[in-house]
Amino acid sequence: MRLRRSFSNPEVPLFDPFLLLDRFGSNNPADYLAGFPWHPHRGIETVTYILDGRVAHRDTLGNEGVIGPGDVQWMNSGSGIIHQEMPQRTEGALSGFQLWVNLPAKEKMSTPAYRGLTAPDLPVVPTDAGAQVKVVAGTYGAVEGPVRGIPVDPTYLDVSVPAGAAFELPTPPGYTAFAHAIDGAGSFEGTDSSSVASGETVLFGPGRAVSARAGDQGFRFLLVTGRPLHEPVAWYGPIVMNTRAELVTAMQQLDHGQFIHHRRPIVEE
Ligand code: MN
Repeated sequence: MRLRRSFSNPEVPLFDPFLLLDRFGSNNPADYLAGFPWHPHRGIETVTYILDGRVAHRDTLGNEGVIGPGDVQWMNSGSGIIHQEMPQRTEGALSGFQLWVNLPAKEKMSTPAYRGLTAPDLPVVPTDAGAQVKVVAGTYGAVEGPVRGIPVDPTYLDVSVPAGAAFELPTPPGYTAFAHAIDGAGSFEGTDSSSVASGETVLFGPGRAVSARAGDQGFRFLLVTGRPLHEPVAWYGPIVMNTRAELVTAMQQLDHGQFIHHRRPIVEE
């Protein structure tokens, strides 16, 4: 699976409570058809957002389906889930994102949960300046996204700003905020770069708002904020806990078929 990793294990704790951002994308099915066969997760939430193409998934909660353009899968692995994520062969490109959101220590062994949102579930808010703001989680203006009740209080927006126009999002004090440029280019107030282009990720310092201005070609970006956990991170592959002992336990349970504690289907949406 060909992908571009914006940040991951080496960046802990800079992006706390976010652990990893992958952007996957290719016009060539040979780059993506291998997908992600059966693998476990524990202690995190994985958020998959498809821009183009389709990904079939199955998991030990009993969920099964295909997520397509504009759809979001927000999966809380809790105490343990085993799933597969397999891109399907399509005529055009496959592209999208996977973000890993950490769980607080007290929620890491909670009951797994799955949210599947299709494109029509996700509100798109027009701004006075002509931008379009797709709200997955958190609020923009008076509009709240459908993903609610996440421990780190995330905001997850897909923002499209027309050429030359501005966009601003207030951010709570102490929260982590980052943006990833999807298409076009633009600038963010207070950043070193005068121009942020497709594929680049910007981590913001402390402040009260994120302010962007689109360049001549317009500017589309993901904008994500969340409350940092300030907890120790012990990370092994798809399992993220607080201590090494918890990782050892997880690996032993995997070896002995004791990893999955919940098989009952739990569908919140
Ligand atoms: Mn996975």
